[in-house]
Amino acid sequence: MATVDVAAWVREFAALIDAHADELTALDAAIGDADHGTNMQRGMAAAVAALSDSTPETPAEVAKQTALVLIRTIGGASGPLFGTFFLRFAAAVESGSDITDFARAFRAGLDGVIARGKAEPGDKTMVDTLGPAADALDKAVAGGADAAAALDAAVAAAAAGRDATTPLVARKGRASYLGERSAGHQDPGATSAALLVAAARSALR
Ligand code: ADP
Ligand code: MG
Repeated sequence: MATVDVAAWVREFAALIDAHADELTALDAAIGDADHGTNMQRGMAAAVAALSDSTPETPAEVAKQTALVLIRTIGGASGPLFGTFFLRFAAAVESGSDITDFARAFRAGLDGVIARGKAEPGDKTMVDTLGPAADALDKAVAGGADAAAALDAAVAAAAAGRDATTPLVARKGRASYLGERSAGHQDPGATSAALLVAAARSALR
């Protein structure tokens, strides 16, 4: 049965963040403080380095280790938020990590981000990407889709959610200080969250 390899997921996410770091920083320059690409790059490089030092045995332990590194090394809003995502994912995932298990843990991660950041759908944050991805996973799993199809649906939903942040006025985070002027720009955190979902698709083994 196909499973998401959580260590591979972390490594794929780091690689995608590297490839998109300049884009993420440019997005944050428009509506924030131009550090989202470097924040994420620093955190994910540290997460990959930690995996190279020691790769824990279970998906839960890999996710927890990654969470703690992200919380420690990423400054700004996104560190605690992505850290909380992985921490709650770690608490919910079971050893098998098949797609049903993955979908449940992903939803738990999203719930953690919401609990921590208090963002609602439409606030122009990473929640606008992670929410539709979690919904797509749940729907696919409920419909009996296999892991690849479920993750394909999640990737498409995440990309659509990310794109839909462009016209929104930010109501959370630094971009909210801009008020109406935040409209017309894609949200940086929603963009990196779409890379997180794309990375999970690539980490299917
Ligand atoms: P900072 O805003 O501290 O500079 P980053 O630039 O690394 O941190 O991350 C900004 C991203 O964090 C935003 O684009 C948004 O997606 C996300 N974000 C900010 N605040 C919240 C929140 N309360 N809930 C969810 N996501 C948030
Ligand atoms: Mg920033």
